[in-house]
Amino acid sequence: MDDRDNIAIVGAGLVGCTQALFMAKLGHKVSVYERRPNPKTSQIEAGRSINLALSTRGISALEELGLAEKAKAIATPMFGRYIHTEHGTDFQPYGANNECIYSISRANFNLLLIDECESNPSIDLFFDKKCLGVETAKNTLQFEGDIEAGKQNKSFDKIYGADGAYSILRQELMKNERFNFSQNYLQHGYKELTIPAINGKHALDNDGLHIWPRGTFMLIALPNLDGSFTCTLFMPFEGSTSFKALNTNDDVRQFFNAVFPTASEIMPNLETEFLKNPTSVLVSIKCAPWGYKNQILLLGDASHAIVPFYGQGMNSGLEDCHLLYKQMQKPGKASKKLFSTFAKHRKVDTDAILQLSLNNYVEMRDSTANPQFLLRKKIERLMSKKHPKIWMPLYSQVTFSNIPYSVALQNGQKQSEIMDKIMMKKDIELVWDSEEVENEIVDRMLLSV
Ligand code: FAD
Repeated sequence: MDDRDNIAIVGAGLVGCTQALFMAKLGHKVSVYERRPNPKTSQIEAGRSINLALSTRGISALEELGLAEKAKAIATPMFGRYIHTEHGTDFQPYGANNECIYSISRANFNLLLIDECESNPSIDLFFDKKCLGVETAKNTLQFEGDIEAGKQNKSFDKIYGADGAYSILRQELMKNERFNFSQNYLQHGYKELTIPAINGKHALDNDGLHIWPRGTFMLIALPNLDGSFTCTLFMPFEGSTSFKALNTNDDVRQFFNAVFPTASEIMPNLETEFLKNPTSVLVSIKCAPWGYKNQILLLGDASHAIVPFYGQGMNSGLEDCHLLYKQMQKPGKASKKLFSTFAKHRKVDTDAILQLSLNNYVEMRDSTANPQFLLRKKIERLMSKKHPKIWMPLYSQVTFSNIPYSVALQNGQKQSEIMDKIMMKKDIELVWDSEEVENEIVDRMLLSV
């Protein structure tokens, strides 16, 4: 008997393509439907070509698919943060052992995954194919133009919704009773800008992520392979310092000269880009359940969109696909409750990474320039170097490990309580690397296990 499922995936973004490759690896027949035209033959929208930080969870999924090296080949490693304050620049390594994250263009990464799908004989990709809805009882999908063309809805064994934060599949599932949904917009938005290459070379160090933290707003810059940087300005929509307050070329240049002078001087196209590129929203979304019976499952942003401040949105989406794949390989894979069990457990972790990401926004825009915070991080790095089995900094747990996010959140809370006490010690600035401090941290960690 042929136990290959006939699978549909809605959305050929990063998560949809990854899920297609995993399902093909399990031997299923996969059709991927994407509302946009094939990006290989169309232009990227201006101001929408953001860079993403790819880290361990995403890389683990790609390793399983044999694609990690190909992805790294189109990415730039970043070993830490360059913090630009009013007084100068400070480099803060991400890990104690030279660990790095990878700056990768979302568009180029998507192209790589689309290429892989296209060359996989078990996967068919359909572009310009907007899904309009799903009929849960029959497990069929309806596409734009089908009714006019006299076509029936298409029927599948399983349907995955990887159609992003504004998922049409999720909207359909919301019609079911007892479907929970919440969405939350930050009062802050973001705008993409660029620091162009100078004679083909990077205008800033290209081995790290640059941050200009300024309290209620911040600018970040991620390096590209071509010598440019993709920058993102995060700022309130409204108020005295806000997107709304910057309306003319002069407003924009004066503001940048005043608050980000070191960036302003290497941004020749600032005014044009600022006024032309869209100001986009930052939304987080939670829902439950993530699917319907063992037929439909939402993945990635469709089920758990998060704010980008831990660089984990895509990584967590890729991890969804990887974990599900591993679950499907286990004995009992045919369980009628596979989807619901997977989603129930996974949601605990995606709720945790949302919480961590919201916390990290405050850290990135505010604390990274605070001397107490810097000392705290220095102590944590020293501890993780000397006692790697006892102390793994929260950032490393999230970014450089596959520890479930919920466990990382709990560990981080424990560490934070210990560090609050350590930072209150007398003359901590002088004794931070003493044996006494080290022993106290170790004792407190061991006591809290
Ligand atoms: P999407 O990328 O939104 O893809 C969904 C796809 O479905 C799209 O191709 C869309 O066209 C298609 N689609 C939608 N509706 C339909 C329909 N009705 N029919 C057919 N197709 C449809 N994550 C990180 O891991 N690291 C980072 O550093 C990072 N930085 C970020 C910075 C910013 C400013 C933002 C906004 C996000 C960032 N993220 C980051 C998050 C990351 O971009 C998302 O988590 C990731 O793109 C989600 O992938 P996805 O495939 O689930 O959804």
